[in-house]
Amino acid sequence: FKTERFGQHILNNPLVAQGIVDKANLKPTDNVLEVGPGTGNLTVRILDKAKHVTAVEMDPRMAAELTKRVQGKPEQRKLDIIIGDFVKAELPYFDVCISNTPYQISSPLVFRLLSHRPLPRVCILMFQREFALRLVARPGTEFWSRLSANVQLYAKVDHVMKVAKSCFRPPPMVESSVVRIVPLDPPPPVRFEEFDGLTRIIFGRPNKVLHANFQARGVLEMLEANWKTWCSQNDKIIEDGVSFKAKVDQILRDTGMFDSRAAKMDKDDILKLLAAFHDEGIHFA
Ligand code: SAM
Repeated sequence: FKTERFGQHILNNPLVAQGIVDKANLKPTDNVLEVGPGTGNLTVRILDKAKHVTAVEMDPRMAAELTKRVQGKPEQRKLDIIIGDFVKAELPYFDVCISNTPYQISSPLVFRLLSHRPLPRVCILMFQREFALRLVARPGTEFWSRLSANVQLYAKVDHVMKVAKSCFRPPPMVESSVVRIVPLDPPPPVRFEEFDGLTRIIFGRPNKVLHANFQARGVLEMLEANWKTWCSQNDKIIEDGVSFKAKVDQILRDTGMFDSRAAKMDKDDILKLLAAFHDEGIHFA
């Protein structure tokens, strides 16, 4: 039960553990955030290379084991353990994040790291293989998805290694991969909620043409309500006679994307489309 609840699969292959930490290229001045240290197989290797580690661990018994592991050693003063849920924890300053966390918190982990300020220099994270493939996917390939676009808006993502089930105790049900996430600094000047609102619509059915996705239930109604709010806030008169749907279709035509499909659009296409809607006062969040 415990293993299930906390997704506890301890990485007990020393070469893989060292390989993950090496991928971070730690500097002796680095402050590192580790999420879900478990018994500390990554932690001790990070402590060896970095100035300081803050480890956020939800299971007090794991935290106790980790404390015991460094007790009385010089590394002890370089380690702070926060006992609690990473999703809610208050985070300290950090340069680098390294994590082998349970796969249930994969999305919140990535988006919390990308919205943290100041931005981390690099994040080395273990994920379920398919999630990792979606993070690194390029437009027009099998795993290109809303997740790919949303994350790649803010970061450069690479696949760094595959990790077999047999490297963990107990072995998980799924294959794993380690990815490197390098946040774009400065980040693009786009509100995430806006970009995400647009990708939610166009990736609704990624292989359908855009104008069809805009006709999905509730979409035009929601956008029209946002547009009317924007018009009243900006003292714009809403002219009679032009249907909102016609307005949306015109924007799709003007950008040349009426018949485009999200499955093949890259980040810049999506940004261009978002800007065209914004120029007309149409917002997605
Ligand atoms: N990092 C260790 C390793 O590689 O051997 C342990 C990995 S194990 C897959 C995941 C760890 O994350 C467990 O120790 C678990 O208790 C902890 N954990 C689970 N959910 C968490 C959360 N929401 N916040 C912080 N830690 C969490």
